[in-house]
Amino acid sequence: MKAISAPSLSVVLPVYNEEPNVPALAQRLDSALRSCGRTYEVILVDDGSSDATWPALLLAARTYPCFRLIRFRRNFGQTAAMAAGFDAACGDIVVTLDADLQNPPEEIPVLLAKMDEGYDVVSGWRKNRQDEASRTIISRQANRILRILTDITEDEVHDFGCSLKAYRADVIKQVHLYGEMHRFVPALCKRVGARIADVPVQHAARTAGKSKYRISTRTLHVFLDLFTLRCLLFHATSPIHFFGKFGIQLASIGFAMLAFVGLEWLVSLFPHCGAWFGATLLVKRSFWIITPFMLIGFALQFILLGLIAELQIRTYHETQRKPIYHVRETFDSPR
Ligand code: UDP
Ligand code: MG
Repeated sequence: MKAISAPSLSVVLPVYNEEPNVPALAQRLDSALRSCGRTYEVILVDDGSSDATWPALLLAARTYPCFRLIRFRRNFGQTAAMAAGFDAACGDIVVTLDADLQNPPEEIPVLLAKMDEGYDVVSGWRKNRQDEASRTIISRQANRILRILTDITEDEVHDFGCSLKAYRADVIKQVHLYGEMHRFVPALCKRVGARIADVPVQHAARTAGKSKYRISTRTLHVFLDLFTLRCLLFHATSPIHFFGKFGIQLASIGFAMLAFVGLEWLVSLFPHCGAWFGATLLVKRSFWIITPFMLIGFALQFILLGLIAELQIRTYHETQRKPIYHVRETFDSPR
């Protein structure tokens, strides 16, 4: 797909079975973006819709300038649709939002104004969220846990789940998305060294079409993704530190137990001391002898796992030429 010309702003929307929303979405995007005073492109990614979303998108692209369409062969999910949009984006700033009009396009200038303060990522905060109470309550708790696990502060992101976000292109292009990681993009950006902030944005109830997620599966997926995220964020360049720490702790317990058993044996050689010491010490000898060897065995396995992960991580970085550092800017003194 060819870019129209290099615009300063790319707006990316994943679209899946949103046919009734497309006409109003296109019209509101067009007028909101015209008022921004920047050159722009709108990238709409049809994530394998089974309704008439694609013809509706084609009509919108013929009506409004600067619309670019991508159509997936099948439904690959919201994360994949966003990743396709990021790959295609030509702007210096990339804004994402949902296509169901729950994120009003009129809020885009609010994000851009915050970006102009010097941030690399600005996240929308649905302060007055218009979804069912159960969703809102679960989401608030989930956001709290996410902040703890990702080392993101409340000033940076209140609301991971809000799709309305803005990214500097050179930051978002460094981030590789898998599974359902689109919710955690700010955390992945922070790993690259991005400066992050959020701003309150309006949120509307869905007026047409249906939500594509069930709360039970979504909660489960977010919970499981957290393990991957934690590992990616903090152990991706030195897994031996993570696994090795467990290994050393287990081995220490094992050696301490062995020392204990050895001490008891020594004491038993001197029956006059053993009377008071040995009697209070070890009752179940077999447990005290087998357990330390098991713990030391587990410890060795953890350390070996760490070593294998170290080799794996080198393959990961070197085959894909992924850098282990990210440069914000450079400056050479004039010659
Ligand atoms: N979406 C998508 N692929 C999917 C599911 C959703 O592209 O498999 C899009 C959907 O069209 C919408 C956005 O992702 O633009 C958010 O979906 P939805 O509104 O269903 O999520 P909710 O607001 O209920 O969290
Ligand atoms: Mg929605």
